[in-house]
Amino acid sequence: MASQPSYRIASIPGDGIGPEVVHATIQVVETLAKILGTFQIEFTHIPWGTKYYKQHGRYAAEDCLETLRQFDAGLFGAVGAPDVPDHLSLWGLLLAIRGPLQLFANVRPVRTFPGTKCPLNTATEGIDWVLVRENSEGEYSGQGGRSHVGQPWEAATEVAMFTRVGIERIIRFAFETAQSRPRRHLTVVTKSNSMRNGMVLWDEVAAAVAHDFPDVTWEKMLVDAMTVRMVAKPQSVDTIVGTNLHMDILSDLAAALAGSIGVAPSSNLDPTRKNPSLFEPVHGSAFDITGKGIANPVATFWSAAEMLSWLGEKDAAVQLMRCVERVCAAGTLTPDLGGSADTQGVVDAVCAEIVKLG
Ligand code: ATP
Ligand code: MG
Repeated sequence: MASQPSYRIASIPGDGIGPEVVHATIQVVETLAKILGTFQIEFTHIPWGTKYYKQHGRYAAEDCLETLRQFDAGLFGAVGAPDVPDHLSLWGLLLAIRGPLQLFANVRPVRTFPGTKCPLNTATEGIDWVLVRENSEGEYSGQGGRSHVGQPWEAATEVAMFTRVGIERIIRFAFETAQSRPRRHLTVVTKSNSMRNGMVLWDEVAAAVAHDFPDVTWEKMLVDAMTVRMVAKPQSVDTIVGTNLHMDILSDLAAALAGSIGVAPSSNLDPTRKNPSLFEPVHGSAFDITGKGIANPVATFWSAAEMLSWLGEKDAAVQLMRCVERVCAAGTLTPDLGGSADTQGVVDAVCAEIVKLG
């Protein structure tokens, strides 16, 4: 018998509901590995986050990049706490890692699950999109500064820095993503009417890269018009690509349109595969429901399925999502989806479906 592939995963539960949904996911993935018997997986706990910050004055260890490079992938929960400004926690952990590890492609699939309600009554079939977010530069490049602090004439700049190489690699990735989907359609989102430098460069690069993908239909769209289209004509959308800021916003909208932010997954990929990729739910630490045991774990289950798929375990990923969909269809839903199940109830129901695969 050929030896099974074995994967080492860094688990970084973080803050708020992060530990609840990551713990839930580890139970489900370990059950899947045991029942399928086709791969092995080992999770190593890493305690970075706000508690770590309060003890050590930093959100992650100084050698966090070297630590992460020892793993095949990372599974994050959430980071951020009500008593620490969000920009400190975000830059302290997630943004500090995404840039240096060149995790430039942030992929956010969105789908309405059976048994859940899409708030759009126009979308009778639900929605099924993939949002591709540029994850390494643009509006979140951290460039800029403040002058005349505290004066009425205090000024602040936030420079959105775009590079041709940065735009080209994400647009190419998005075309490849669109090409792999049945509809083969890509919408490139910009704001090139009022932002005349970086956004115009995006338009130019998109038109050039499109020549390499004659089998993909594509179009440009302004981000403001795109919000209207996602609500009014959801069936006309398939794969969407845009900047760090624009897709941050559109992906929250997309998650809400699919039913709940509690089901939305995200992959932070290095498509060159030189560095481990990181997988995390789109939602944040959600302190309003922390400790109540009702966090929806589905976004993190789906993130783990994306992780398995990226690692080469495509069949395991498909099986896991089928089990999750069966549980949703049977009505085992957390309160954010209108149900009355708790987190552990969803875990137990998904594990019971996985056991049936054996
Ligand atoms: P952050 O500041 O990191 O974005 P947040 O506390 O603002 O975190 P969000 O992720 O933005 O939380 O979520 C907004 C709200 O949606 C939460 O306050 C919570 O009520 C709800 N929510 C988010 N994730 C989940 C989940 N997994 N299950 C159930 N409800 C959730
Ligand atoms: Mg938030």
